[in-house]
Amino acid sequence: MDCKFVPSVCSYCGTGCGVLFEVIDGRINSTLPLKSYPVNQGKLCIKGWNLHEYINSFMRLKTPLIKEKGKFQKATWDEAIDYSATKFQKIKQEFGPDAIGVLVSAKVTNEENYLAQKFTRAVIGTNNVDHCARL
Ligand code: SF4
Repeated sequence: MDCKFVPSVCSYCGTGCGVLFEVIDGRINSTLPLKSYPVNQGKLCIKGWNLHEYINSFMRLKTPLIKEKGKFQKATWDEAIDYSATKFQKIKQEFGPDAIGVLVSAKVTNEENYLAQKFTRAVIGTNNVDHCARL
């Protein structure tokens, strides 16, 4: 059995507590608080203690889905991006950029959230962007 502890940062909220993932045979098995981390100093809230669960969840989406005739169908990334770009252009032309809003997630990196707001403002042309940690 291969067991190691990998330091990381909790992605559930903007506090950014330090965590230590217990990895057994390449699979994240549990989450521990990182005692040496200055933000949380060995403490985690209930969400942080369960951080590893969504990583291995059977409900986690691993491929894009496109809804056709009321049912979600698996799609490639190219198909999903083409589909989304076409829909964004159509909505923007028909109703203007403020008809579009973008919600980003605490479960992606700061850099990805930055890119999402940049895309919303610079490409779509609206300030309608928000983040789940504010809700
Ligand atoms: S452990 Fe709790 S307080 Fe700390 S970053 Fe995660 S969600 Fe936020």
